[in-house]
Amino acid sequence: QADVAMYAAKSAGKNRVQFFDPAMLQLDDAVEAEAELRAAVDGGELVLAYQPVVAAGDGRCTAVEALVRWAHPFRGLLGPDQFLALAEETGAIVPLGEFVVRRACADAARWAQEGHPVAVHVNASPTQLAHPRFVELVRESLAAADLDPGQLVVEVTETTVLDSPVVAATLDALVALGVVIALDDFGTGYSALTTLRSLPIGIVKIDRSFVAGVLTQAADQAVVEAIVQMAHRLGLETVAEGVESVEQQDVLERVGIGSLQGYLYLPPAPAEAFSAWLADNRRRSSTGELTPA
Ligand code: C2E
Ligand code: MG
Ligand code: MG
Ligand code: MG
Repeated sequence: QADVAMYAAKSAGKNRVQFFDPAMLQLDDAVEAEAELRAAVDGGELVLAYQPVVAAGDGRCTAVEALVRWAHPFRGLLGPDQFLALAEETGAIVPLGEFVVRRACADAARWAQEGHPVAVHVNASPTQLAHPRFVELVRESLAAADLDPGQLVVEVTETTVLDSPVVAATLDALVALGVVIALDDFGTGYSALTTLRSLPIGIVKIDRSFVAGVLTQAADQAVVEAIVQMAHRLGLETVAEGVESVEQQDVLERVGIGSLQGYLYLPPAPAEAFSAWLADNRRRSSTGELTPA
């Protein structure tokens, strides 16, 4: 990921080959990078990758997470780690987030029309959630797609919601619309228990660092088990992130996890590939062909 790749500079004045380090996108020439990112949003260079969330026990796909990618004309397919920080710093996250919410709602509506309704999860950053038009954007996107608000899940992290009355108000307004809030990367923040109690959270997503250690680290298994039990007592749904093996899946199901997500089922894929995977998941689940989860 930190590989140094060659690319031709975009603007005519600098039409020479130079070395590109992804880190540069965050540090070097922020003004130009911001312009490039905004042009990418307007010019359709952003795409969504979709990753299924499957129910424990029967493996049926109940939801899908939208993950943004930048199909850069010279640098290849860039992941969020390579441009989100810049987008956040420059405010380009707002139009970027607008694209993500609109497209995710439209795609989810299409899957529902094809006979495969799944909830769609979108990630929202601190800047997005503090933006005065975010709730309106969600309302408009749902209406434009004719999507049920309960089919949209907004994923937030603990750090995002910590100590921000503005963000808390946004979450309340979203929940009033019927949208579901998920707490992402749970367990990695500072105020896990307070957050769960004070915010209108419906789903807890257990961070993949715990899932990674669930087979080898007794502590990780204990943490996962405790989170699941606490979530259930609070009436919250649970999702394990980053499930890569059947062995991990087995342990997670044994401790009572509600749903699972990870490379084991499908790595984030283009909409069309996910669509095909979804149709196959539904076919196999209706014929009882699905192997446990
Ligand atoms: P996240 O929301 O926690 O998303 C899960 C990340 O874990 C994704 O990385 C996904 O590709 C990766 N992943 C999924 N299954 C596995 C697995 O089995 N093993 C491993 N090792 N990794 C797995 P990705 O797509 O690079 O996204 C990174 C982060 O960027 C996301 O973490 C999210 O916080 C942020 N992000 C992605 N899309 C958006 C977006 O549209 N808006 C905002 N604001 N943030 C986004
Ligand atoms: Mg997420
Ligand atoms: Mg996560
Ligand atoms: Mg994450």
